[in-house]
Amino acid sequence: MDEVFAAASNRLTIDLAALTENWRQMGRLSGSARAAAVLKADAYGLGLEPAAQTLYAAGARDFFVASAEEGVALRPLVPEGRIFVLAGLWPGNEQLFFDHGLVPVINSEEQLAFFMAALSDHGDHPCALHVDTGMNRLGLSLGEALSLADDPARPASFSPVLIMSHLACADDPAHPLNRRQLDAFRQAQQAFDGVEASLANSAGIHLGPYYHFDLTRPGIATYGGEAVNGVPNPMRPVVTAEARIIQIRDVARGETASYGGSAQFARDSRVAIVAIGYADGYHRSVSGAGVTLRQAMPSGAKGFLNGHVVPHLGRVTMDLSLFDVTDLPQADARPGDYIELFGENIALDDVARAGGTIGYELLTSLGRRYDRMYIEAE
Ligand SMILES: *Cc1c(COP(=O)(O)O)cnc(C)c1O
Repeated sequence: MDEVFAAASNRLTIDLAALTENWRQMGRLSGSARAAAVLKADAYGLGLEPAAQTLYAAGARDFFVASAEEGVALRPLVPEGRIFVLAGLWPGNEQLFFDHGLVPVINSEEQLAFFMAALSDHGDHPCALHVDTGMNRLGLSLGEALSLADDPARPASFSPVLIMSHLACADDPAHPLNRRQLDAFRQAQQAFDGVEASLANSAGIHLGPYYHFDLTRPGIATYGGEAVNGVPNPMRPVVTAEARIIQIRDVARGETASYGGSAQFARDSRVAIVAIGYADGYHRSVSGAGVTLRQAMPSGAKGFLNGHVVPHLGRVTMDLSLFDVTDLPQADARPGDYIELFGENIALDDVARAGGTIGYELLTSLGRRYDRMYIEAE
């Protein structure tokens, strides 16, 4: 462990071996389909470069990013990889796609028209076609896609390398929209006979083989997050977040702590003051039990300190949080100790739930104050 990491106020340990294993596991669950790697938003907050290099070394060759800029950053990291840009292209950024070998996902009739016009100047370039099957976010409607497939005037140069759609409710396997989207997607796929097809994200992979087609797009599960509601998460945790205890305070029964006097003490207590706050993506909504910032989730986040689970107290502030260490032996709660916020012992998604959000949002809002250590895959 390097000295900076050993002394850091906040630190992230990112286990690239677990990342590899999770991605391979999603590949196995994808059956005969290939698994792509989804690297948008700085690889879900983990860091684009180490995540991309790790998954490329593990064998990934298809990659999804959100924007052309993310694609440009990814290009040198995955020399033989095919990079799909989910937002597609628009007037003014088409050259990025041509110069860096990025595959635009065509999401609308407008993008299609613009892409075709750009091709007439540039010559052939691959694209993917996104068909909306019920999410109502991006994509040609099924009707638009079917008429495009049948259009005798369809430009010969329009030959998508992938047809894709995105599931709205895959985290809820019993939701009827899953089946309706599958049926709609099959129609689109049949109309573009011979073109590879992709429907499933992490949760969609768990819906079973009908949903797998040729290429799956696991994101959150690769990063250790929960994909399917209400079932134990089978993935290995990838990210561990820790922060340092700056001070231990004794607080007398009847006193309060934090803004608004939001932590109230019914007994003499010991409180750990920890260097983590909402500026680090430790959301204010994970504040301690009884703090009325949440609509639905009554219990606050918990931390893990020297073998003990400790509850968060009062409101999360910008840089600091309080945890109740009253029940710990003194030797187990000392200034300078690190408390785990989530990772091996405290599930990412439990903290997310405490804040009324999802693991995706916690990971992608981690902020810049952590020192990061990457555990190498091999
Ligand atoms: C983010 C995203 C994914 C990955 O989804 P997870 O739920 O993280 O597995 C797949 N496809 C599209 C279109 C996405 O936007």
